[in-house]
Amino acid sequence: MSVDATSAVEPAGLDPEQTAAVVAPRGPVCVLAGAGTGKTRTITRRIAHLIDRGHVAPGQVLAVTFTARAAGEMRGRLRGLGIGATGPQVQARTFHAAALRQLRYFWPQVVGDTPWQLLDRKFAVVSAAAGRVGLSTERDSVRDLASEIEWAKASLVAPEDYARTAAKLHRDVPADAEKVARVYAGYEQLKVRGDEGMLLDFDDLLLHTAAALEEHTAVAEEFRDRYRCFVVDEYQDVTPLQQRVLDAWLGDRDDLTVVGDANQTIYSFTGATPRYLLDFSRTYPDATVVRLERDYRSTPQVVSLANRVIGAARGRIAGTRLQLVGQRPDGPEPTFAEYDDEPAEADAVARAITRLLASGVPASEIAILYRINAQSEVHEEALTRHGIAYQVRGGEGFFTRAEVRQGIAALRQAAGRDDLPDTVGPDLVTLVRAVLAPLGLSDEEPAGTQARERWASLTALVQLAEEQVAQNETIGLDGLLRELSLRAEARHPPVVEGVTLASLHAAKGLEWDAVFLVGLTDGTLPIAHVLGDSSSAPDTAGIEEERRLLYVGVTRARVHLELSWALARNEGGRRSRRRSRFLHGLVPDESPASRIAAPAKPSKKRPRCRLCGKPLIGTTATMLGRCESCPADLDVELLDALREWRLLTSRELKVPAYVVFSDNTLTAIAEQCPVDEAALVAIPGIGPKKLSTYGEDVLSLCRGRAR
Ligand code: ATP
Ligand code: MG
Repeated sequence: MSVDATSAVEPAGLDPEQTAAVVAPRGPVCVLAGAGTGKTRTITRRIAHLIDRGHVAPGQVLAVTFTARAAGEMRGRLRGLGIGATGPQVQARTFHAAALRQLRYFWPQVVGDTPWQLLDRKFAVVSAAAGRVGLSTERDSVRDLASEIEWAKASLVAPEDYARTAAKLHRDVPADAEKVARVYAGYEQLKVRGDEGMLLDFDDLLLHTAAALEEHTAVAEEFRDRYRCFVVDEYQDVTPLQQRVLDAWLGDRDDLTVVGDANQTIYSFTGATPRYLLDFSRTYPDATVVRLERDYRSTPQVVSLANRVIGAARGRIAGTRLQLVGQRPDGPEPTFAEYDDEPAEADAVARAITRLLASGVPASEIAILYRINAQSEVHEEALTRHGIAYQVRGGEGFFTRAEVRQGIAALRQAAGRDDLPDTVGPDLVTLVRAVLAPLGLSDEEPAGTQARERWASLTALVQLAEEQVAQNETIGLDGLLRELSLRAEARHPPVVEGVTLASLHAAKGLEWDAVFLVGLTDGTLPIAHVLGDSSSAPDTAGIEEERRLLYVGVTRARVHLELSWALARNEGGRRSRRRSRFLHGLVPDESPASRIAAPAKPSKKRPRCRLCGKPLIGTTATMLGRCESCPADLDVELLDALREWRLLTSRELKVPAYVVFSDNTLTAIAEQCPVDEAALVAIPGIGPKKLSTYGEDVLSLCRGRAR
């Protein structure tokens, strides 16, 4: 696009398609926009345009989105455009927040004196309902039941229709469908509490709002007089329940602008459906339909890969895909790398991140994205080892997750029992499995999202045990627990300015300069339960949603994009995994010889003791750079000086001391007394960030001792 050629006729900073959406006359407008094409920009500019031309007053506009963050972003942009500085403002809210406000206002008119309270945590009520039906009231089972009730309500499925609908849709139900239906019915009953009034959950807010407008003419008239113009962002995520509210808001009017990308539908399991977006021009035959295809976020290289990923999609949603056209200057080609095992993959990613940081990419502009949260463990470990700070978005770090803490507590309890024989080697792994089994480590992957996450985390814990046994055949339960707590302690505490670790779901709508898509194997992306097995057919719709997850992942990257996978979980493990089927035809050279195109294949050599030269086993030994049994050549005075300095520094920066350096790192420095930068970064736990922040201080302390 030539900016000069168009700027005379178009509002500044908009391309011709965006302009068409912005200046379309009042009435239905549908913007089918691919990733990074500037949807929010277009939608906010359209609101500004309608107000500017006097078509509506700011207070008559209701703009809805799906997250509070997105609503805040929209309000910010509108303020930036100088909208609604005085008088009633444009309402930019989530569906739920808008309904809550309206219901508070209309409740006395519609229901009268019966009081109500918002039930923002439904756990206790669902748990009581599950207990009545004889289902487990364990945390994860109840959470899965609660999610299932949310899905049913969002999909406008009543308790009496639940079992039939779930069967028809082949839903992955958390328990017997008839029982789930009874829990759902029981939950609805428990919320009505006689004179104490009623409890309304978030979905009830929407249901009651829609009913108030549908059944009470006076309420509908008052509301429709107040709000004249509606805008919905991320419209592919709308649920049937939200659509019903939107229809109730509109009545027989059609002043509606929607923006969405059906190929980014990744929340179907919550009831979201792109159906309304795809049917928009059928519902509103006069609609102005605009397609945005210019991608302002990513380099042409990233955009080309994104187009190829989604180009292989099948089905109705795929038929609506747009060919994105990259608008940014050229950048590096995305890379693909296959590794023998996950630790090698994680190590290579951490090395690549170290190089990016050294080349000036800020840590907050780098992300590692994966399919399920249990995948974070191996990357947390590698980043810690390389001294790179990180934050886990939309979830907790591995060792702080409830099931992992419970698992370690159970292992500790088992270690305290005298009736268990000393168990080492492969028997130890069997023991660990047996101890974790009651916490949800079944042989088969269970149904239900929460139960599956729990299962995956516990499986990761067993894999850690396997890894330890592979390194040290004589390790027992006590030794394993020591290793686990060392690993947990060595982890960086949460930081704001770190590399982001996030699931693909949590990455939606966000963008980074550099993105690493990891663990791309069949069974992880696409996830195992959509693939089917001897007893069930593959879930083709589920597989397509998994493909869209990869598309969402690819389109988060502005410039650097690295895709990788590992053939085995553990070092030396059986290489039984296969690269994700979605990568077929995308990897530049697929001949077996050059298959491992790893840009920096890490040496598989285990670090050796600097004193005796034997390979190092365990986290402490690796951090210290010597066997724990080898004599320490520690400079006690240097260690004291380093501790003193760490205390002062941590006070000054207002962070806990271990954020500056862990005890193991300080000990390693006091033993090795590095006098130049190269020697300092060679110590595990010291990466480029720590080197630039503390390097000078530490080196001057060491040089003082070395003289
Ligand atoms: P997603 O589908 O991933 O949510 P999106 O369509 O919402 O993406 P935005 O995040 O709104 O895309 O825009 C992507 C980037 O492109 C933003 O940084 C935005 O400011 C920029 N952008 C949008 N339109 C233009 C334009 N006409 N000229 C220059 N930059 C633009
Ligand atoms: Mg967006």
